[in-house]
Amino acid sequence: MRMSELLLPTLFEEPREAESISHRLMLRAGLIRMLAAGIYSFLPLGNRVLLKVIRIIREEMDRIGAQELLMPALHPKELWMETGRWELYGQDMFKFKDRKDREFGLGPTHEEVITDIVRKIVRSYRGLPKILYQIQTKFRDEPRPRFGIMRGREFIMKDAYSFGRSDEEAGASYENVYTAYCRIFERLGLDYRAVEADPGLIGGSSSHEFMVMAESGEDLTVICDSCGYAANLEQAEVGERRGENKEELRVLELKETPGMKTVEEVSNFLGVSSERLIKTLLYKADGRVIAVLVPGDREVNETKLRRLLGCSCLEMADVKTIEEVSGCEVGFSGPIGLEGVLIIADESIKEGNNFVVGANRTDAHYLNANLDRDFKVGIFGDVKIAEEKDPCSRCQGSLKICRGIELGHVFKLGTQYSEAMHALFMDEEGRERPIIMGCYGIGVTRLIAAIIEQSHDEKGIIWPMSVAPYKILILPVNITDNFQKDLSEELYKELLDQDIEVLIDDRDESAGRKFNDADLIGIPLRLFIGKKAKETGKIEISYRTGEKFFEEREEISEKIKGLIDISAKTPTDYL
Ligand code: ATP
Ligand code: MG
Repeated sequence: MRMSELLLPTLFEEPREAESISHRLMLRAGLIRMLAAGIYSFLPLGNRVLLKVIRIIREEMDRIGAQELLMPALHPKELWMETGRWELYGQDMFKFKDRKDREFGLGPTHEEVITDIVRKIVRSYRGLPKILYQIQTKFRDEPRPRFGIMRGREFIMKDAYSFGRSDEEAGASYENVYTAYCRIFERLGLDYRAVEADPGLIGGSSSHEFMVMAESGEDLTVICDSCGYAANLEQAEVGERRGENKEELRVLELKETPGMKTVEEVSNFLGVSSERLIKTLLYKADGRVIAVLVPGDREVNETKLRRLLGCSCLEMADVKTIEEVSGCEVGFSGPIGLEGVLIIADESIKEGNNFVVGANRTDAHYLNANLDRDFKVGIFGDVKIAEEKDPCSRCQGSLKICRGIELGHVFKLGTQYSEAMHALFMDEEGRERPIIMGCYGIGVTRLIAAIIEQSHDEKGIIWPMSVAPYKILILPVNITDNFQKDLSEELYKELLDQDIEVLIDDRDESAGRKFNDADLIGIPLRLFIGKKAKETGKIEISYRTGEKFFEEREEISEKIKGLIDISAKTPTDYL
């Protein structure tokens, strides 16, 4: 391709609207343009990257025997009513009426549609297992579309769904997709991590998210560098501290704390550090009131709490309930004398003593409250949000919290959708059973942003060879110099004849502008044709990453071919 003809609007200046490195570089390198908030066009260079990413995903999904299909973006409301998700998805789904007043939504995900297809086609165990996937545009009216294509309202996803007869079969599909995802991310040159995610009520470690660590990431991941444990913050387990922080038991004492409701107010007023305080939070778990105790300086992790209790609905108790149950204003609830309420405490409560707790009396707290002596705990569990330097639950290492971008998600669904939608199959004994499902997603367009987040320098993008829009750029430094021009054109033709994806900067622009653009658009290999080529007869081959060497004119195409082949085999090693 000739740069003089390419629709490539590179920007010298920083685009003001850009919120992250990848967003900025995608705009500056002329890969994308915005149409409306969270809605983007891919320009020719960006589109070439997109097609390459899609190709890699396709190859790896096909390798595990998954079959590609294509489903509609327009979904009738009735289908989503079957699973109750029309309401649940709420405003995140674009909804509207057709000319006959029938309601439709633009698909944010396709569990309902795929389950409808499968239930109408697959009736017997002979038709299973199956993994079906598509690469298709999704629509989500995200409350905060951000960072360009990273969080769009219209974006491309690869979504896959597996259908199996048994838990083992479902597990095997999960493993297969997991492996395919690892290969995809490796081929894209990404430094990624699979982290445990909240599997909801299904339990076990049946959900993983694939993350790349990046400052602009919106997700928090908890990592233990000692043993490699990684989980998202929602899910992350916290180990127990060795050693205790106990004093000699003191006498329980009631203390007036007028108007002191927050941990900060109480700890300042009493001169007690916040970890000596116990926060007592009242919740409703499937309608039943429970109390949750965590140290004053920590927060309750509702995901872990829900799982510990095995409840489907968990919400903070309302003011009226709190006042009724604890017999005081909000802010003074405590575990002592909390009749008929199940008390759940974080494990760390065992580590201390002589706590300050609410007295279940307005404007009063107890000092020196002690476990067993003054209050009883029904269930101990790990129910607090992990924090930096907490002990790892697996190895007693120390936890670290990092920002990350979610690239993909693998999830065992069980029979949630097949039961709701009656997707049944006849087993070998002639019994009807619900199909066991899994769902798996990769944010195809988001991947491109993630690659750039991880692979760039201050001058621009550094594409991994596997997805580079062109593999090599020929840059005649001075196009008005006939020697440089002719040699460049000759090499361009030679490489094209060998089916090498080559770009030539045949524009009559200043050398500075051309070099800047070359660095910005990040083509991995370049041939800069300048004065030296004429003087020495040798041609400089340089990598975008800086490394360079000289080659005889006659050897150039063979050499370039070799370099591209090597990097195709070892995409992450090409640097
Ligand atoms: P997030 O927590 O980032 O909103 P999600 O849990 O809603 O993601 P899934 O429904 O699991 O995402 O979708 C599968 C993949 O699609 C995600 O892992 C992510 O890479 C991508 N994705 C989700 N929402 C968006 C979006 N608004 N823009 C671009 N990609 C997205
Ligand atoms: Mg989301």
